[in-house]
Amino acid sequence: MAQGNSGSLASFRAEDRPSTHLANSPLAHLRRGSIKTLQVNIGKRCNLACHHCHVESGPLRTERLSEAGCVRVLELLALNPAVEVLDLTGGAPELHEGFRDLVRGARKLGRRVIDRCNLTVLFESGQDDTAQFLADHGVEVVASLPCYTPENVENQRGRNVFDRSIKALQLLNTLGYGQGNDEHALHLVYNPGGAFLPGNQSVLEAEFRERLGAEHGIVFDRLLTLTNMPIKRFAHSLQREGAYDEYMSLLIAHFNPETLPDLMCRSLLSVDHQGYFFDCDFNQACEISIPGSVQNIWQIDDLGELEGNRVGVGPHCFGCTAGSGSSCGGALSADGADGEPGP
Ligand code: SF4
Ligand code: SF4
Repeated sequence: MAQGNSGSLASFRAEDRPSTHLANSPLAHLRRGSIKTLQVNIGKRCNLACHHCHVESGPLRTERLSEAGCVRVLELLALNPAVEVLDLTGGAPELHEGFRDLVRGARKLGRRVIDRCNLTVLFESGQDDTAQFLADHGVEVVASLPCYTPENVENQRGRNVFDRSIKALQLLNTLGYGQGNDEHALHLVYNPGGAFLPGNQSVLEAEFRERLGAEHGIVFDRLLTLTNMPIKRFAHSLQREGAYDEYMSLLIAHFNPETLPDLMCRSLLSVDHQGYFFDCDFNQACEISIPGSVQNIWQIDDLGELEGNRVGVGPHCFGCTAGSGSSCGGALSADGADGEPGP
């Protein structure tokens, strides 16, 4: 188990409830900065149904952002030039019929676009030219790959996922991805295979680079480490195993105040498939509304009005502040506590 800076929460007592720790931590006073990223969950449909999926996506989910919602997202981007990035997530965002129009629209407005891609979707029926489309439109790809070994990947994500993920990475490489070009950035996302903190991001990145390069000829730009959040499918499996309390204690004991300035809820605004705002994708999954009267994409033109607003927090927020921290962009601090040494 991870070693670390348990002294960071001055009043830490293992026997206290997570909500007590939360009320006594700086997380309770978290406020938004200016919004740089609009992260839109355009639909819950996914070709996979991973064990750890915090949005509980799968092939049978039908919830999706309407056509009017997609148009409004592009309007909001046009009205808010300070928002630099449209970050498309799901489910598998590529399966939404409006995905390509959103990409084209945002790129026309000069914004960076991120596709949170599960890789295997590139080989689903009807997706034959998706990789080429991403390359042609300068879409950055953030791809989930929890390990460089088939066993660990398939334990989390299901059978036959590893080979298809490798094939997809090789395809993206042939299209120029993963070779240091910002418009063809290829970042991999690692999350631990169980109830422990991710290892040191730069150490894991070097390991992934060596193994994927030597065994499959794959190159990528960065590895982003994410902590498993104690919500939804992962929380349910912890509860079934009687390990939920221990995992919460681990997260709380490794609270790292250095992560606070860069928590993603400070600069990212999350939108769900109905157009409702949330402070992050995790709060969206937990249905924790943003504080304040503005609740959805139709109620506001100037997103700058949300700056300084309180963030809606819950005990799961300790997942973002544990050890090196965790966000959509990976670890938040180089100096936090390290978890297990490898995947
Ligand atoms: S690929 Fe992503 S969205 Fe799809 S089930 Fe897995 S974790 Fe969820
Ligand atoms: S879970 Fe969301 S609201 Fe909580 S700290 Fe993380 S990003 Fe912020």
